Amino acid sequence: MKFTVTSRGDTHSDQLCEMIKKELQLGELVFDEEAPDIVITVGGDGTLLEAFHVYAHRLEETAFVGIHTGHLGFYADWVPEEVEHLVTHIIKTPYQIVEYPLLEVVIRYRDGRASKRHLALNECTVKSTEGSLVCNVEIKGETFETFRGDGLCMSTPSGSTAYNKALGGAILHPSLASMQLSEMASINNRVYRTLGSPLVLPQHHTCLLKLLNDVSVQVTIDHFNIPNYDENVDTIQCRVAEEKVRFARFRPFPFWKRVKESFISE
Ligand code: NAP
Repeated sequence: MKFTVTSRGDTHSDQLCEMIKKELQLGELVFDEEAPDIVITVGGDGTLLEAFHVYAHRLEETAFVGIHTGHLGFYADWVPEEVEHLVTHIIKTPYQIVEYPLLEVVIRYRDGRASKRHLALNECTVKSTEGSLVCNVEIKGETFETFRGDGLCMSTPSGSTAYNKALGGAILHPSLASMQLSEMASINNRVYRTLGSPLVLPQHHTCLLKLLNDVSVQVTIDHFNIPNYDENVDTIQCRVAEEKVRFARFRPFPFWKRVKESFISE
């Protein structure tokens, strides 16, 4: 089996990475950064998000596992004290795969540029960089509402505990192939009206945001901006992607337990 290890870049994570690499090689696994079967990330959820985008072109052949060297993560759910145990599991046990849904985002431009397709593990956000964002929200080809406000966030179920949660969105179990649309400070009065609640859409329902005013917008996919402040974005289309992200599971750690331990108490 081929593996790679990525680090957040701090000393502790780097040292753990080196230790894991050495132990797995002693266990006769092959270090391969180009085409790994398993990607082990050491750091936090942000580290796993970065690794996801590095290997997004070969999701069917790649499984991820995350170790957190900070606070408990949703993707990074192993602690450094468990690393030896994890390494033994990776060497000896055929692991289970758990698949989570992803978000497909297609951005179309007004200036003739080819459309771009992206996959998000957490979410896509659209924000105006000057004044309010005004856009039509279409669901399954029908106009649903005209949004006016700071921006919109379309998240995956596993991303529902990230930015979406800060916007008052619901936490969705990752077994639900769905996406969630949540608002950032919508203007609601007798002239402008939006639903005001987060919406959960099932697989194969498309949500299209058509920008109506000439403001430059910032579109983010997980931790990166694409590209900064673009005035020529015409539409942003989101739906549940056909691809899924695969996590290697060596022991049960139910999602609701992770939610409780992250947000309520250990
Ligand atoms: P960051 O701004 O350095 O950190 C964002 C925080 O979100 C980190 O604590 C990260 O955990 C945590 N996080 C990432 N994915 C998560 C998930 N699925 N569930 C719960 N927490 C999660 O940025 P980053 O580390 O590169 O992560 C990018 C993400 O930050 C974006 O995808 C977005 O969801 C989130 N974000 C949140 C807000 C907000 O809540 N107001 C604003 C902007 C961006 P670790 O410390 O374990 O890495």
